[in-house]
Amino acid sequence: GYAIQLVQETPYRFRIERHGPMRVPGVILASRELLPEDQALQQVVNVATLPGIVRASYAMPDLHWGYGFPIGGVAATDITAGGVVSPGGVGFDISCGVRLLVADMDRDLLAPRMTRLLDRLDHVIPRGAARGAVWHLTGRTQLEGVLSDGARYAVEQGHGVARDLERCEDFGAVADADVSQVGSRAMERGLNQVGSLGSGNHFLEIQAVEEVYDEAVAAAFGLRRGQVCVMIHCGSRGLGHQICTDHVRAMEKVMPHYGITVPDRQLACAPVDSSEGRAYLGAMAAAANYGRANRQLLGEATRRAFADLADCGLDLVYDVSHNLAKIETHDGARLCVHRKGATRALPPYHPDLPADLAPAGQPVLIPGTMGTASYVLTGVPGGEAFHSTCHGAGRTQSRHQAARSITGEQLRDRLEAQGIVVRGATWRGLAEETPTAYKDVDTVVTASEGAGLCRKVARLVPLGVVKG
Ligand code: 5GP
Ligand code: MN
Ligand code: MN
Repeated sequence: GYAIQLVQETPYRFRIERHGPMRVPGVILASRELLPEDQALQQVVNVATLPGIVRASYAMPDLHWGYGFPIGGVAATDITAGGVVSPGGVGFDISCGVRLLVADMDRDLLAPRMTRLLDRLDHVIPRGAARGAVWHLTGRTQLEGVLSDGARYAVEQGHGVARDLERCEDFGAVADADVSQVGSRAMERGLNQVGSLGSGNHFLEIQAVEEVYDEAVAAAFGLRRGQVCVMIHCGSRGLGHQICTDHVRAMEKVMPHYGITVPDRQLACAPVDSSEGRAYLGAMAAAANYGRANRQLLGEATRRAFADLADCGLDLVYDVSHNLAKIETHDGARLCVHRKGATRALPPYHPDLPADLAPAGQPVLIPGTMGTASYVLTGVPGGEAFHSTCHGAGRTQSRHQAARSITGEQLRDRLEAQGIVVRGATWRGLAEETPTAYKDVDTVVTASEGAGLCRKVARLVPLGVVKG
């Protein structure tokens, strides 16, 4: 190896000049203290070599090492110039993302019911590697409905209300899902996991709005100080994972045919405009819809628990994914924008926003950790990196390192001393998610705002967490 030269351009912008096979520079939007020490910078360089990549290989402030592409990476390729799509630029958990619901209740009123509510959620939210689901599909036809129509199908089947769809990215479903590109193993894994949280980093958290930075935008999002909300983080489970695996394998085989060489096999890719590229994008869209239906169902299960135990309604603020590739138009060019551990952040009056959110911009949902804070942000005009920002605090420690630093029981005690109630699936899983395994979310969000990617709207603090 060699040391990667970083040129600091502003307090929140570093540049890696083109060298070797790089087609564009690397741009890391972060403060110096957030720069990773691991191989993530090399991954930013590697991504810059992909055929058809335009502008820059971008990294968000929560940048850290990932499969092929870094987590916190954003890369766009020009479809008409042989631009590629790479499953590694989306990640294994296709359309993993976050949903935020607000309760019509303040934290003081909910406090006496918190324990019972968490016990109920602990009971009704399926977790762990291979647990059952909130919704037991009756067969392949229903699964195909989920894959084609995502949260829309869930709502059609009685799991939610029409307004929910107004507040989902893509109004609840990605177009162009191609169920025929979803392999049989993926279908099998999908059948009994829809409406389940998954493990580890995935969670359902009861939170309170602790601070509001922009009253007007917060009001447009339905947020006020002291209010209770629920944040759900999960993705497309085994189905998405299997699709990523299958299509990486298929692309590895055909790269020589397209004359593509990559510096890391984990960057396997194919032209967007090729049969393999289209096959992946069709399967990816199906997995994305599965992820959206999944969050819709978990949101509904949470609504039932809140109605039952707290006589309290929950309104959807927004649902947005942070692992996805999308075909988008930027400055007249048709681009395939990969966001991996990065959140789309549309500015005010963007045509893809629902009408009532136009003046405010897109709600951007940023989980932090179960012991610190999470944020709601909004998109800004002129936002760099194709209207993208961070997706979380970002890991600094491996799961293994984290689990060596504290036991699950110790962590539970520490959180309960802070007034945060915990319901974990396993002690080991809980320890792996210790807040000290992550960057400081306040620093990450400050850097994201400082880099001109987004604006702060509200800070949320955890009250109770159901961990995967
Ligand atoms: P990822 O999608 O990369 O697995 O996770 C996204 C982010 O979720 C992480 O970077 C981390 O900041 C955040 N996160 C992980 N576990 C929790 C949790 O239990 N509560 C909250 N609020 N955030 C979490
Ligand atoms: Mn995930
Ligand atoms: Mn995620």
